[in-house]
Amino acid sequence: VQNTDALEKVEKEVQEWSETRGSLVSQLKKQEKYRKEFIGNVSHELKTPIFNIQGYILTLLDGGLEDKSINRAYLERTEKSINRMITIVKDLEVISKLESGELKLIFERFNIIDLINEVLEMQEMRAKKQGVKLIFSQEDSNSIFVYADKKEIFQVLNNLIVNSIKYGKDKGTTHIEVMSMDKNILIEVRDNGIGIEADNLPRIFERFYRVDKSRSRNMGGSGLGLAIVKHIIDGHNQNINVSSNYGEGSSFTFTLNKSK
Ligand code: ADP
Repeated sequence: VQNTDALEKVEKEVQEWSETRGSLVSQLKKQEKYRKEFIGNVSHELKTPIFNIQGYILTLLDGGLEDKSINRAYLERTEKSINRMITIVKDLEVISKLESGELKLIFERFNIIDLINEVLEMQEMRAKKQGVKLIFSQEDSNSIFVYADKKEIFQVLNNLIVNSIKYGKDKGTTHIEVMSMDKNILIEVRDNGIGIEADNLPRIFERFYRVDKSRSRNMGGSGLGLAIVKHIIDGHNQNINVSSNYGEGSSFTFTLNKSK
């Protein structure tokens, strides 16, 4: 009897060990797939601006330099492509820090109304260029305090507002609203732009996921903006949601911890 018991115990251990090994192998395979996809996406994003720059420089070297009207235009395009690469590289740095858990949130009490106004001021020019009107409707009070990482929430607001302008309608509007609830506050960034089809909505926060790839690349983003936003809000243990009607506009809402 003792022997049978011992044998059963060993069998059970072998079984457990083989299950652990199986799950480790599938985890490693998943990581490897993720790594490959990531590298593929990054090189794809960088390829366009690099090839563009090469094209502009070759045109300049090939006689374009003699023509004043051409050389200015091509240098401006080169600068635009370089800016595009800078955006991609900066966003890559942010996402890799967020995904590896390296970025530690620094919580403090601050006035969210002031922060929203700062972002709006920074994006005023971009909105003007696109003919988009930025409207901030706040409750009666000029100060609503939250407890969060100010720098990261600035980034969240900035990414959402930039998107609402980029994917907004010509002469459209972006509405920013702050609603104070019991323990939380709710912030909404709403546009009346191109909207997102229902099929695409569940994937919108994945890194490098884009509804219309060429259109979005032309707009100059990295494809990482919403992935960064989601990571930051998750890191605050808060929620972010999107609702959209194709052709009518989109609304992004997120919550933050209210502070007295
Ligand atoms: P990027 O804008 O650099 O492509 P994001 O991660 O910020 O990357 O957004 C991912 C995709 O989600 C965009 O390419 C676009 O297709 C879609 N999207 C984001 N915000 C909006 C919006 N306000 N209206 C319509 N589509 C949007």
